[in-house]
Amino acid sequence: MFKIFSFPFKRFGPVLAVVLVALAACGTPPPDRTASTQPRESSGPAPARAKTQMVSAANPLAAQAGLDILRAGGSAVDAAIAVQMVLNVVEPQSSGIGGGGFLVHYAAKSGAIEAYDGRETAPDGASETMFLNADGTPMAFFDAVPGGLSVGVPGLLRLLELAHKEHGKLPWRKLFDPAIKIAEQGFELSPRLHQMIADDSHINKFPTASGYFLTEDGAPKPVGTKLVNKPLAETFKLIADFGPEAFYRGPVAADIVDAVRGVTLNPGSMTEEDLLSYEAKKRDPLCSLYRQWVVCGMPPPTSGGIATLQILGILQNFDLAKLKPESAEAAHLIAEASRLAFADRNVYVADSDFVFVPTAKLIDPGYLARRAKEIDRDRSMGVAHPGDLDQRAEIPYAPSATEKGVSTTHFSIIDKEGNVVSLTSSIESAFGSGLMVRGFLLNNQLTDFSFRPANEDGQPYANRVEPGKRPRSSMSPTIVFDGSGKPVLAVGSPGGSRIIGYVSQTILNVLDWGMNPQAAVSAPHVVNRNGATDLEKGTPAETLQRALEARGHEVNVRELNSGLHAIRISADGITGGADPRREGAAVGD
Ligand code: GLU
Repeated sequence: MFKIFSFPFKRFGPVLAVVLVALAACGTPPPDRTASTQPRESSGPAPARAKTQMVSAANPLAAQAGLDILRAGGSAVDAAIAVQMVLNVVEPQSSGIGGGGFLVHYAAKSGAIEAYDGRETAPDGASETMFLNADGTPMAFFDAVPGGLSVGVPGLLRLLELAHKEHGKLPWRKLFDPAIKIAEQGFELSPRLHQMIADDSHINKFPTASGYFLTEDGAPKPVGTKLVNKPLAETFKLIADFGPEAFYRGPVAADIVDAVRGVTLNPGSMTEEDLLSYEAKKRDPLCSLYRQWVVCGMPPPTSGGIATLQILGILQNFDLAKLKPESAEAAHLIAEASRLAFADRNVYVADSDFVFVPTAKLIDPGYLARRAKEIDRDRSMGVAHPGDLDQRAEIPYAPSATEKGVSTTHFSIIDKEGNVVSLTSSIESAFGSGLMVRGFLLNNQLTDFSFRPANEDGQPYANRVEPGKRPRSSMSPTIVFDGSGKPVLAVGSPGGSRIIGYVSQTILNVLDWGMNPQAAVSAPHVVNRNGATDLEKGTPAETLQRALEARGHEVNVRELNSGLHAIRISADGITGGADPRREGAAVGD
């Protein structure tokens, strides 16, 4: 039963308190107290099952490394470090120590929910005009990606260090062992990695990356090639022995700076001082009620938490459980709620250390109930307009620079004490900037900034480049709780700004439609970012095209490359799902 008066306010932070006060004030119906606080479960692809602990990640070697750490008595954070380092080796195109990430953590003993921000920062020498051509027009996205200009100061190791200080059990050094072993002994180049090398257009511009990923005649190394990464093993040994200091100062830092500044194509401005001064930040997680559950995600600089909570907050004004998840009615409502969320995201959300973001207002249930009234069940609104929220936050819409989404990784972990990690990390585009230093790739995260500093009237964009600022992200690592504060679901995904759609739809699949986590992550995607409605190619979602067009949607049928890795916790045990669109696995005991 949902006990509102014994609700653990402290755990869910001040934002939820605001939400609950607003909820009481605006007359939104209270959460259904009679409903079960555990998601129901239906048929579909079978999930992985476990009793005490589980890891779901984008590569089986990484998932196994995490499980081995859990078996050795490690905490969820310990396992996360091992998983992340192995992913750096075996899924190098997606994430690693040359990039950044966001972690939402639940500590079973204290009940604390914490949000760790390891997002890259713009170097001190960055400027709001750095992505403009000489004639003042913005660079084409893929002209800006390769080289040093796009490289943000990496944050992942500082994030993991901070989380390990607070929640680690095993020594830091030990957590690098699995990755060092795989980097030294080699691993088989997977079909997915092979395809991504084949699809890439800038590896061949950089000799180090070319030497590692391409054959001597410039072709992608074939599937099954044994890839050995000795330089990365050596870098990991340094970081294992001396901690992240060995990355942020000294010879590794000097090599990063040389690579960024010394490259001929798009040299950047990063200095050793930029690396030394990088700090991961703890932020208040964003928590909000969704029906009888509490959904917690990351606050800015990612837009992921706000937008996910907005989509859910709008949809809770409709009885989704009465609709079929694969129906046109459900797809229409999800698309329209997403339009509204993206309209706000595009004008209000950027790094809140630099610009005012009206976060509490954006996820206020009264506001979202009003936004829900803008939805016509029979007719698409076309383009949604941002809500009128706050004078200070009136920021013009910055056109998005990019249309991609093939990189990034997400993993979810629960340890035997019940601690939960939901971590999304990224080097942005596939293979990041293409610059490879000591075995790892440097990110191109700065291209997540707006390329233009201001609109035609000179009004500055919220997400313009500023020194020290973190580019707006869409990463949405999420943990869902029942009314008593127990975690029931950890989930997140890669996919560029479509991450928001993938994550919110998976949450609906589990909570409203009772899908097990494997069925939930496998289900066909319907995504809207305040433009065309994307239906996932080759799935039953394609059949919705006519019905949605009849409601006025412009429809695109396309591949939708999510990489959802979810863990669900219920009275019956732990179940996990790994996205069939990637190569991952959920493993546990
Ligand atoms: N750089 C993106 C972000 O932070 C993620 C990129 C992707 O998932 O492809 O939102």
